[in-house]
Amino acid sequence: MRLNGRCASRLSRRASETAHLGLGSNLGNPARNLREAVGRIEAVPGVRVVKRSPVYRTEPVGGPPQPAYLNAAIEVETSLEPAALLRELREIERAMGRRRGRRNAPRTIDLDILLFGRRVVRSACLAVPHPRMHERRFVLAPLADIAPRALHPGEKKTVAGLLAKLRDAHRVERTRARIGP
Ligand code: ADP
Ligand code: MG
Repeated sequence: MRLNGRCASRLSRRASETAHLGLGSNLGNPARNLREAVGRIEAVPGVRVVKRSPVYRTEPVGGPPQPAYLNAAIEVETSLEPAALLRELREIERAMGRRRGRRNAPRTIDLDILLFGRRVVRSACLAVPHPRMHERRFVLAPLADIAPRALHPGEKKTVAGLLAKLRDAHRVERTRARIGP
């Protein structure tokens, strides 16, 4: 069948964009949870994982007394819109048994959209850049390992620049755990 121009353009995929995601876990087997989440993200149509940070052990910020977290960041290329990407991430959280408890409560897996290129999104269920990323060492340390020059469009600073000026005193330490090749 021949495709006319209109048809072809409707079938053509949207150009993909670079986004950065934050991953965290402090329940069950956190290292395995991070790896499983990356595997599930890789399986989402329209999402390709292109960089993986080292895994950090981090001191919990806020919430009740709870175990240390493992945190990591990944870079993806995606043809999904931010809201569609968030829907996929929430579905993975759900499939991995995350219960939505209080804010900052311990969790099997937390998947956040940190940056989506230079886009700024402020809707009822999605805020990008993630509103607290620039003040959290557990987010910026792994992100700076894979995307030091990525620009935070609100703060008008690079990730490395934000990390250098950061005052957050919560401890983070790099581990030998890995979330993929
Ligand atoms: P937090 O990650 O701040 O501890 P949750 O993971 O419980 O909180 O997320 C609560 C809600 O935050 C999600 O259901 C989602 O609708 C919303 N949200 C807003 N912006 C983002 C974002 N950039 N990434 C992930 N979730 C977000
Ligand atoms: Mg979250």
